Amino acid sequence: MILIDGKKAAAELRDELKKEVSSLKDKYNKVPGLTVILIGDLTPSQIYVRNKEKSANEVGLKSEVIKYPDSVEEKTVLDKIQELNQDETVSGILVQLPLPKHIDKQKVIETIDPSKDVDGFHPMNVGNLSSGYESSVPCTPLGCYLLIKKIEPNLNGKKAVIVGRSNLNGKPMTQLLLKENCTVTITHSKTKDLKEECLEADIIVAAVGIPELIKGDWVREGTIVIDVGINKIEKGIVGDVNFDEVSKVAKALTPVPGGVGPMTIACLLKNTIDCFKRSQN
Ligand code: NAP
Repeated sequence: MILIDGKKAAAELRDELKKEVSSLKDKYNKVPGLTVILIGDLTPSQIYVRNKEKSANEVGLKSEVIKYPDSVEEKTVLDKIQELNQDETVSGILVQLPLPKHIDKQKVIETIDPSKDVDGFHPMNVGNLSSGYESSVPCTPLGCYLLIKKIEPNLNGKKAVIVGRSNLNGKPMTQLLLKENCTVTITHSKTKDLKEECLEADIIVAAVGIPELIKGDWVREGTIVIDVGINKIEKGIVGDVNFDEVSKVAKALTPVPGGVGPMTIACLLKNTIDCFKRSQN
């Protein structure tokens, strides 16, 4: 069984991105810039944002974090996004979710200029992705996609089963694998026989949020299994896949932690650089 090392893959991607930033600097005499807006004092959000800033600096991006208290008015945030949309030194804008209840998430997402939408959540990017056009792709499914391609560069005709249909993970994952000519089944909480569906798969991507949902006897030999889940239980952090059981049958499997997670931030940096490159063309 191949243990898919997300930390190593993310470090390799960051190295490539660092070189790319350096050559962009030589070519354009400027570097891509990432601005993150952080609202409130939720500890996980603060940790995510700190890690994003650290990684951005590591690869040589210009990075900035704008912080607001929980009580900030929606208009203040929307005005700031409009200002950043006009700022040529800002290539990518990310508003860290979740937001306080009085701020309309969709309004925030739709105010970000789609060409600077490094999260890939703007409806225009969602539409472009599903139409097969160039777009920003949400960072976690993009990371999963890159890990799958490392194991199996030619995905033509493979049967992929996506477990979970969220806008954040399952749906964009489906589009990415369709583009690679996979035959994709997307499953969810109302799917009749999830085990049967999984047993058909060459590739399983689990993005559910239920600890160890995917069992060893749900996976046939030779399947690539990508575990997006992050679940805190008594014994620690586990994924949506029963690692001990599935590692006995899968061809390749991502661990949790250390699998998909590290790729997410590296893909945010990649998206920022891609936005910069598109803006120069
Ligand atoms: P979400 O928005 O809560 O969506 C969960 C999906 O799973 C829904 O489509 C739901 O179906 C489906 N589902 C629920 N119970 C199911 C069942 N018994 N059988 C099959 N499908 C079922 O979750 P999300 O935001 O995509 O996140 C999923 C997991 O990924 C979470 O553990 C989250 O913490 C983790 N995550 C990890 C990263 C990372 O960087 N590694 C990033 C983001 C999220 P319905 O649509 O029918 O309700």
